This record gives sequence, C-alpha cells and structure tokens, in this order.
Amino acid sequence: MIIALKHGAATDKIGSFKAFLEGLGVKVHISEGASQTVLGLVGDTSGIDEDALMSHHLVEKVIRVQEPYKRANRMFHPEDTRIDIDAGRGQTRRIGAGYLGIIAGPCSVETRGQIVSVAKAVKEAGAGFLRGGAFKPRTSPYSFQGLGCRGLDLLLEAKKETGLPIVTELMSIRQLEVFDGVDIIQVGARNMQNFTLLKELGRCRKPILLKRGLASTITELLMAAEYIMSGGNESIILCERGIRTFDSHTRNTLDLSAVPALKRHTHLPVIVDPSHATGIAWMVPAMAKAAIAAGADGVIVEVHNDPEKALCDGEQSITPDAFATLMEILKRYAEFEGKLMS
Ligand code: PEP
Ligand code: MN
Repeated sequence: MIIALKHGAATDKIGSFKAFLEGLGVKVHISEGASQTVLGLVGDTSGIDEDALMSHHLVEKVIRVQEPYKRANRMFHPEDTRIDIDAGRGQTRRIGAGYLGIIAGPCSVETRGQIVSVAKAVKEAGAGFLRGGAFKPRTSPYSFQGLGCRGLDLLLEAKKETGLPIVTELMSIRQLEVFDGVDIIQVGARNMQNFTLLKELGRCRKPILLKRGLASTITELLMAAEYIMSGGNESIILCERGIRTFDSHTRNTLDLSAVPALKRHTHLPVIVDPSHATGIAWMVPAMAKAAIAAGADGVIVEVHNDPEKALCDGEQSITPDAFATLMEILKRYAEFEGKLMS
C-alpha cells in the first residue's frame, strides 16, 4: 500500500503517523520528495481500511497494491484448492485442481417423482452432483417459494436412490439445523453480501457454493469468500452466474471473463451457471461448453423433466435428453483440457 501525504506535512506529524501505521503490523518506508512525502507499507495490509486512512488529515491519496483479500488470494496459496465431497459407498467427488464438478437438477424440488427421475437421468448422463432448491429466493412473495423442509427430505431421498451428493440453497442461518444431509450449501446471488450469513457459514464445516451477486464486482465476490474463510471455512466454490447489464436480451449477461480473472487471483474452484446467466434453455449448452473452454472447474445446470410445467425457471431448464447430449460433448472438452469428471 502506498500513501501519498499532503504537501507540507510536518515532520513530527509524519513520525507519529508512521508509528501509528507500524502499530497496525506493517513496515513503513518513508520517501521524501522535494514537495511531497510518500509512505510505502510493506507486509499484510488486508486488515487496513483505505477509507479510514483517507480521512486522516495528513493523507492525500491511498493506493492499494496488494488485494484486500488474503485467504482467498492465490499469492498466499499458489496451488489450486480441491474440494472433496464424500459421496458415501467409499466414493469421493472432487471439484477443482483438475477435477470438473458437474451439478445438475431442477431449479426447485417439486415432487418426489420429479426430483428422483431427474436425479436418475442426470446421474446416468454423468453428472456428479444433484441440485434442487427447497428454499427459493423469489422476486415476488406470491411466487412458489419452494417446498422448504419437505423439499430437503425429497432431495435426501433422491440422494439415497442415486448416491449423488446434493447442492441446495440456504437463505437463513436458522435453516442450517435442517441441512445435515446437504453436501454443498449454496449461497445465492441475492445473499452474496449478506455478511451475517457469510460469517455464520464460516463456522460451518460444509463446502459452500458462493454465487456472484447480480451487480457485484469480482473483488466483491472474493471479499465475500474471504468473509467465510476468515471464519475458518476454506471450502468454497465460486460461481459466475451472470450479472445485470443494460441488455435485456438475456436474463443476465454471462461474464465469462470472470473465470480466467478469478482463476488468476484465487486458488478456489470456479464454476459457471449458464442457466441463470442466460435464462434461455437453448443457449445453455453453448455457454456450458464456453465455460469449460474458459477454464471453469465445472458447471451448474438446471434440468427439468417437463420444463413447460416447471414451478420455477422452466424457460431456462433443459430436458434430461438435452443434458445427456451436452454431457457427451463436455466429456470431450474435459479430455481436451486434461481434466477429470469426478
Ligand atoms: C438458483 O440457483 O436457483 C438461484 C436462485 O440462483 P441465483 O442465486 O444465481 O439467482
Ligand atoms: Mn433457478
């Protein structure tokens, strides 16, 4: 971090400011120019608040050289992180560090028949995980809100029948007590900056699928991951799921460049959700392929046995047959990328 001081800052004031900064645990190098003094801070500056420094009467400008996140930062953890999920029956499913996680299933759990049949179909096609929302974050309070605990029970039944680990969204920390059988907890886009929730999830020991907020920057996504990690839970999978832009042609705009950008800055696995990113079923296969080609560690795809009758997100859900066709192509992409599907 570099701090440029105001013109004419008095030497004794600079000395006490330097001592204050050193008290924050960094080394301070002073460069005195003809008219301006510049301080170079060396060490871990992630705990230093730039805005607070800016309000100091001596400070003209603060430039952050190092990213504000530490635990999520590849600089302090060069190797890719791999998330291992115990799938029972002596099997482990993996995401990251050369393993592609393919998560598929309906937007919402609707009936036993629906979730079990979709689970069987996506497993048969080669998916590694089953998704399905039990607690749904809907824009309208009058829309289907999910089956809640009953939905979780049905997901567990589908898990028992297929052996697929399950991924489902948690909206409130109070729901954690009923999430025992859940393998990966999803934090949805709307909750990416629910800092109280993130802090609580830091204390939990289950992997977290953290989706990018609708209008969040890449740094904000990484800072959200940092919240969970600073609480002690380092098992995080990041998810690019499209962002709001001026264009309403698609539901969101898939920011595919987020994949290489995130992979460069963090060691955490990064997956892509082409369903919410586009909102249009026929675009999903193209964007799923593009995600793997861009270096993603997997995809999360909405699959429904009868999209036209889906209670949520039918327009963007592909059929089990379309998913099976997509999987055949993704397997070839995985091979080309030298990655394994677990
Ligand atoms: C979902 O996965 O069903 C969902 C609601 O996703 P997002 O939070 O990305 O909108
Ligand atoms: Mn959905």
